[in-house]
Amino acid sequence: MKRTLEGVVVDTIQGDIANQTDMDAVVNAANAELRTGGGVAGALYKMAGPDLAEAGKRFAPISPGKAVITPAFKLPNDYVIHCLDPVYGRDKPEGELLQRCYVEALKQAEEKEVESIAFPSISTGAFGYPLKEAIPIVLNTVLNEITGLKHVKHIRFVLFSKSDLKAYESYWNKALKER
Ligand code: ADP
Repeated sequence: MKRTLEGVVVDTIQGDIANQTDMDAVVNAANAELRTGGGVAGALYKMAGPDLAEAGKRFAPISPGKAVITPAFKLPNDYVIHCLDPVYGRDKPEGELLQRCYVEALKQAEEKEVESIAFPSISTGAFGYPLKEAIPIVLNTVLNEITGLKHVKHIRFVLFSKSDLKAYESYWNKALKER
């Protein structure tokens, strides 16, 4: 899916967040210590090399909903924006914290005058956020923020599985038609 909303291109693709060669910034589903982990973090730290963990040290630990920005080192991007997304059922209120991740990530991108940013489906893997509950939060947050963006002109959602991509696209197509 690819649309232009308020002058910003929004697209959804199936892919690997560590291989977004045409994007300025990628978002990491971080842990509080800004260290490597599984899933998204594992892929990003592996591709970026050890400097990424070194760069995160001065920020750690971060609290849920908080985002920080570092260089991307060997990744094909300029920046990694690390957000500590909520663990479903533990970090409350989880909806608000998930929303704050997207708001803060976009804020960090704007401060660095980033033009394109790719988000994985943060919180919906090891952190257990049900995808169907997360999708409307993601869409509404992005729609709310999009009007205030000055530098960001392209927002991409990178879904790892075909079924996650389908879930995103069917909700978004329906919701945007009803706008
Ligand atoms: P969290 O701990 O925030 O839940 P995870 O990394 O466990 O983060 O997973 C978040 C989502 O990202 C899941 O849907 C998972 O399937 C997906 N994912 C895992 N690896 C990658 C990758 N390399 N690129 C894009 N998405 C990925």
